[in-house]
Amino acid sequence: MEELKRLIREVPDFPKPGILFYDLTTLLMDKSGLQKVIDGLTEEYQEQSIDKVVGIESRGFFFAPSLAYNLNTGFVPVRKKGKLPAETISASYELEYGEDILEMHKDAIQQDQRVLIVDDLIATGGTAAATAQMVRQLGGEVVALAFIVELEALNGVAKLDGYEVFSMLKY
Ligand code: AMP
Repeated sequence: MEELKRLIREVPDFPKPGILFYDLTTLLMDKSGLQKVIDGLTEEYQEQSIDKVVGIESRGFFFAPSLAYNLNTGFVPVRKKGKLPAETISASYELEYGEDILEMHKDAIQQDQRVLIVDDLIATGGTAAATAQMVRQLGGEVVALAFIVELEALNGVAKLDGYEVFSMLKY
């Protein structure tokens, strides 16, 4: 795990002063780092009968489709407002650095499907909580939420009370 942490670039004051940004592109471009992350997530969920892997725009898209492929499931994108072309549902959320609205196609999840939600990082937990809310609104069961990085000091898991949360690397 220390090896994976070494592959993550920490960029101070991005996108604004006071934020330490965890840049996972440096992990993604390392073939062994990429393999370890995707294999680790696959092992964690391969016995869980997942029906859909939901990835959160934009950096959740770096990981969710590969994981969905390995788990032999479909991939569903959750996107920022205005990006999805068909009928959507939405949820608003707060970021560590801003506020926005997320959307998901109405027909993306079927009743009682077992859903795994994936993002690169959990900070305050707002993004993930909004996504879980939409999955449930569509009738899906949130089996777990998985992150590569968790910023423990921000206690984002408190917003995901009652859900199974897995973070590969904690800071
Ligand atoms: P939150 O809703 O506060 O848990 O924020 C999580 C979302 O914002 C994820 O999609 C992350 O990609 C992004 N994010 C928030 N804080 C950071 C950070 N310090 N470094 C990298 N990404 C971050």
